[in-house]
Amino acid sequence: MTTLFEKIFKRKYKALPGMDSVFFATADCAGCGECEQRCPTGHIKIVDGRPVWPKPCFLCAACGDVCPVNAISYGPPKLIEEYWARVKKERADGEKE
Ligand code: SF4
Ligand code: SF4
Repeated sequence: MTTLFEKIFKRKYKALPGMDSVFFATADCAGCGECEQRCPTGHIKIVDGRPVWPKPCFLCAACGDVCPVNAISYGPPKLIEEYWARVKKERADGEKE
């Protein structure tokens, strides 16, 4: 079920296809579950003591901020750049309307 917060969040940050696969936990991950609890849209699940990102992510970066051992990393920088370029353009287009 989609929560109200998720609906609001989705309006502001639209998922880029493939964004769900950019995050991963490094070997430093202790499996504490803080990232799962902090994710505002429930897009992180702890499976066998490790976080996985089974749904599209909205790049709020809260999971990376909360990790006590900085174990969360992400994949291709190009994908991240494309995402923020799109968000910036959508915001600029919205301001024109
Ligand atoms: S917060 Fe960090 S250490 Fe804890 S489960 Fe998530 S990635 Fe692993
Ligand atoms: S960046 Fe992390 S905390 Fe934010 S929506 Fe994506 S998985 Fe959740």
